Amino acid sequence: MSRVYNFSAGPASLPEEVLREAQEEMLEYKDTGMSVMEMSHRSKAYDAIIKEAEQDLRDLMNIPDNYKVVFLQGGDSLLFAGVPMNLMKNGKACYIITGQWAKKAYQEAQKYGEAIAVASSADKTFSYIPDCSDLDIPDDADYVYICENNTIYGTKFKTLPNTKGKELVADLSSCFLSEPVDVTKYGVIHGGVQKNIGPSGVQILIVREDLIADGPAKPYTPTMMDWKVQADNDSLYNTPPCYGIYICGKVFKWIKKMGGLEAMKAYNEKKASVLYNFLDNSKFFKGTVTPEDRSLMNVPFVTGSEELDKKFIAEATKAGFVNLKGHRTVGGMRASIYNAVPIEGVEKLVEFMKKFEEENA
Ligand SMILES: *Cc1c(COP(=O)(O)O)cnc(C)c1O
Repeated sequence: MSRVYNFSAGPASLPEEVLREAQEEMLEYKDTGMSVMEMSHRSKAYDAIIKEAEQDLRDLMNIPDNYKVVFLQGGDSLLFAGVPMNLMKNGKACYIITGQWAKKAYQEAQKYGEAIAVASSADKTFSYIPDCSDLDIPDDADYVYICENNTIYGTKFKTLPNTKGKELVADLSSCFLSEPVDVTKYGVIHGGVQKNIGPSGVQILIVREDLIADGPAKPYTPTMMDWKVQADNDSLYNTPPCYGIYICGKVFKWIKKMGGLEAMKAYNEKKASVLYNFLDNSKFFKGTVTPEDRSLMNVPFVTGSEELDKKFIAEATKAGFVNLKGHRTVGGMRASIYNAVPIEGVEKLVEFMKKFEEENA
């Protein structure tokens, strides 16, 4: 067996330990005589799996009791519609456009009400986080929306925007569980799990109870996208993505074992600094993001020559460092170094980059 160093932006690396455990339980989960894939979502065994997953997530993120935790499906992109449908009671919301995922959410929201772009970093190809300390937020806005970590461009909000008392709604897909989060600062947190937590097909929604108490803002909201229905049914309104949630549960336990989110943050900072320190000192490779807004998870970089970028990606792939190609819309390279990417992988990648620089500079 030869597992590569996988720098994919998503679906992405999972802890090897988790995969091995799942392998061991593939044919027979505990004493059930069947795989988790084969069991009823209403069975006692599965009930324990999903309840434990929720509890472990609550422990890890310190989620207060007045927040609901729901496992959804349909892609995190479906939540771009789910957010306005559930929350746009006054029909007005503010969006901070820091990249493609925020833009997509903003465009989707326009179908359901008035979505206002209150800040943007499009002028410099999303290479920084705009100043959000004094935004022009209307009094009747239902919420302020951000994408907290920009998977494609590699920026991250280091301080949350001043929402002037409006609910903060955040897409945490690519930084979920990478560091501690003060849940009480948010009305809604959502994210797909395929970046940092599990296999694609599962989204996690964390929503403060009072925001969904009266049901969705829009009466035409499909039942499956009605957060109150989903929460009232403990994520079991219909068949959930059972196997995916089971893997997420294992990853939650793995993070607990690693020491929780404080430890995860320290590890991720150490890991990212190996790569950023190299990029800062290289005359050949360079990072593309304003240093103070850099993401710990997604690190884009370029050589300055498309031809050399291509050569680098090809040679890196051959050497066992895969999925380093930048997003199809931006080019260059991107190393996604989520929780499960080991620090040895980043150190070896940097060694490889040094060698490539010597040979090609
Ligand atoms: C990947 C990603 C999404 C989209 O997720 P899908 O499950 O493919 O719809 C949304 N937001 C962010 C920040 C992402 O990284």
